[in-house]
Amino acid sequence: MRVFQILYSMWFNKCPRCHKGNVFVYKNPYRLKALFKLHEHCSSCNLQYEREPSFFYGAMYVSYALTSGWFIVWYVLYITVLNTMDTLWFALAMASSLIALSPLTLRWSRMLWLNFFVPYNPLKNQNT
Ligand SMILES: [Zn+2]
Repeated sequence: MRVFQILYSMWFNKCPRCHKGNVFVYKNPYRLKALFKLHEHCSSCNLQYEREPSFFYGAMYVSYALTSGWFIVWYVLYITVLNTMDTLWFALAMASSLIALSPLTLRWSRMLWLNFFVPYNPLKNQNT
């Protein structure tokens, strides 16, 4: 199923087409100096990750959606469980979690963006 293929690629930093080569150079997203370092091509199927110049600018929309989803989760928590919490502390906790998760959000948004354009096809090993 396509959703599970995308989640696998996103979670394990794997090429969307073959699920073998790594997309990011380092597996740890919290290695901040190398946050944006991607391999140019898949080591297994030779897929070019940056399909055109500025290809990953589109990932900003995905990042916006992920962050909005995170805000919705916090809002639901606030109106259901944390409704006795002071608003300032709630805002600080929400902002802190957002900052702490930003490397993951950045990485997942790029992986999702790439997966939107490249379907899983392990038999294909030509760059198209
Ligand atoms: Zn590949």
